[in-house]
Amino acid sequence: YDMFVLAFIERLFRPSYKKDEIVLGKKLGEGAFGVVYKVSLDKPSSKKRGGDLVLKKATEYGAVEIWMNERVRRACASSCAEYLYGFLESSSKKGSEYWLLWRFEGEATLYDLMKSKEFPYNVETLILGKVQDLPKGIERESRIIQTVMRQLLFALDGLHSTGIVHRDIKPQNIIFSEGSRTFKIIDLGAAADLRVGINYIPNEFLLDPRYAAPEQYIMSTQTPSAPSAPVATALSPVLWQLNLPDRFDIYSTGLMFLQMAFPGLRTDSNLIQFNRQLKRCDYDLVAWRKSAEPRASPELRKGFELLDLDGGIGWELLTSMVRYKARQRISAKGALAHPYFNKEELLALSVMQ
Ligand code: ADP
Ligand code: MG
Repeated sequence: YDMFVLAFIERLFRPSYKKDEIVLGKKLGEGAFGVVYKVSLDKPSSKKRGGDLVLKKATEYGAVEIWMNERVRRACASSCAEYLYGFLESSSKKGSEYWLLWRFEGEATLYDLMKSKEFPYNVETLILGKVQDLPKGIERESRIIQTVMRQLLFALDGLHSTGIVHRDIKPQNIIFSEGSRTFKIIDLGAAADLRVGINYIPNEFLLDPRYAAPEQYIMSTQTPSAPSAPVATALSPVLWQLNLPDRFDIYSTGLMFLQMAFPGLRTDSNLIQFNRQLKRCDYDLVAWRKSAEPRASPELRKGFELLDLDGGIGWELLTSMVRYKARQRISAKGALAHPYFNKEELLALSVMQ
């Protein structure tokens, strides 16, 4: 339990935040389990940086989200938005809420960026910090998407190596950090920490059906549910091996890869339609391609063309992420070592990081 003691001490010496010093700004999001605001501090000090912050007022899952953010902060901070503090706020009229604070990482999520006609060039501008005055073309787009995928898988590998499965990976939960010029993961409200059994029981209603892998439950129904912490600590590395729960996030990441490559699949309605088609093909992407390609629109054809570059190495990676059986999907670490990530091909800046 050393790790708990250390975490507790570290938290004691960190600046704490109170309701009264937080000045609410624009609302950034509102879900079933909480509201998110851009905020600032009334009186920033040397210990408490000024600048924009993000506040989430969360209901029942707030405690889990605080747990996950504390873990990430200590174990794999660069994977996620910089988390500052979380506390139980009981003076509000609605009863008690958990308040969580992060640094405001930037204006745009991957969802916002993908919605733009400029995608993926808008991402290139953000990553390089300047507009590239070069001809547009499929090779350049492929390079940008490669860089985004590498950043996403790097962040995901950090989480998975820590024992955390996110379970709600989607473009809306990927923020572009203007400080580090990389994509980071946000929204750990549905995450599970398998090393200690926190939020171990899968809450299927927390999952977004548009990005969820076909397995309904992260862990097979045969595994014991919600063991107490010491038992889970002893068992979970084994359970992790048996069930490969991290591959749930890999499937979702594969769908984001697909959406980046195929402009025609970026809208919600088209993604839902794609999911239906894929299900009809028994989640076999190769079968889906056989049925879709002959009658493909130019937009769809462009995706195949992009993934077919360099001997189809992109298509190969995509098909190893989006598979019916979790154990046949590649891991985040495995994907990072895939030949798709030929380092010479990546954007200059991301190579230097
Ligand atoms: P939920 O989806 O539960 O409403 P999120 O944690 O996903 O809550 O946050 C909602 C939205 O707020 C995000 O989609 C993003 O636009 C914005 N946001 C969240 N965290 C940050 C952050 N650290 N920096 C900038 N924007 C953020
Ligand atoms: Mg979210």
